Amino acid sequence: MSSPKLFAPGPIDVSPETFAAMSHTMIGHRGKDFEELYASLQPGLKTLFATERPVFLSTSSAWGVMEGALRNLVRNKVLCLCCGAFSDKWFSVAKSMGYEADKIQVEWGEAIDPAAVKAKLEEGGFDTVTFIHSETSTGVLNDLAGVAKVVKSFPDTMLIVDTVSSLSTVPVDFDVLGIDVMLAGVQKALALPPGLAVFAVSEAAMQRAAGTPNRGYYFDFLEFAKNDEKNNTPSTPCIATLFGLQYILGEIDKEGLEQRFARHRETNAMVHAWGDRHGFECFAPEGLRSQALTCFTTPDSLDLPAFIKGLKEKHHFLINGGYGKIKGSTFRISNMGNETTATMQELIDAMDDVLGG
Ligand SMILES: *Cc1c(COP(=O)(O)O)cnc(C)c1O
Repeated sequence: MSSPKLFAPGPIDVSPETFAAMSHTMIGHRGKDFEELYASLQPGLKTLFATERPVFLSTSSAWGVMEGALRNLVRNKVLCLCCGAFSDKWFSVAKSMGYEADKIQVEWGEAIDPAAVKAKLEEGGFDTVTFIHSETSTGVLNDLAGVAKVVKSFPDTMLIVDTVSSLSTVPVDFDVLGIDVMLAGVQKALALPPGLAVFAVSEAAMQRAAGTPNRGYYFDFLEFAKNDEKNNTPSTPCIATLFGLQYILGEIDKEGLEQRFARHRETNAMVHAWGDRHGFECFAPEGLRSQALTCFTTPDSLDLPAFIKGLKEKHHFLINGGYGKIKGSTFRISNMGNETTATMQELIDAMDDVLGG
């Protein structure tokens, strides 16, 4: 194998068992086999989302649904909660679509303050809010419950939540929190190859979408709902990846969701302990850190490119050297997906070897 094992936060390592499951005989998407496949995914996805709502399957990366959610929901003005590369970009995407948009911008590495969201929404005029739970570029895990509570207190204000790097690593309760759209791409914590996004839409958001003109076709929520009733998707989906998802959901069911959260907590703590040992500081504030990945500030004493190169060449592991404007000044290590304490220990031993050598 020529490519190193990925410990960068997405795409992440995909297991041979997952690839084997994907190597299923191809099936047509307008037949009974597909309906069975689609239906078989729903219980596991609903458990992951903690929802009674259907979970839709979009053959696109996460951005497709992020853009699509705006297209379905925004009427007049959107508020984007910005704290890193992905959340900041959502603001520019909203503007590029021609919407009136405003933002709350905090420094990268800081979290969104629910009180600030409340103050901003009180200015009035917003009908939609975009929010990223785990800001993968900085390792910040935002206060989802706090922000959801604030947004819910403003009637007719839709909350769109990106859980791309948090889904299945920490609880995300779609129904309980009253989230309107929640989405994730499967190449992050679900450890599948890229190309599929999963998302749920509240009843209120479906109603909003129904009254929104010019929704287009590919990301039209009403098309997804209509097809879901027949256990199907609006257009031809990435069927092989869906077989992979079926396998992963089976694995999650076997492990148990609580156990999966605990495993991520434990493997993430190993990375933090490794950082402590070397004097590397977390970029995200204590108490607001992702359990799926860790973002460290690069100290002056560390030759980051040499460290990453050494790890890759000697041990065949790839970590990430920072994203966006904090490339180089930070670096990131993923523990999401199928990683265990044993596989994280292999990475840690390898990193120690390179640092010591
Ligand atoms: C990776 C990532 C995205 C972008 O996902 P794509 O699948 O590349 O569209 C969006 N949001 C977050 C939080 C991410 O980590």
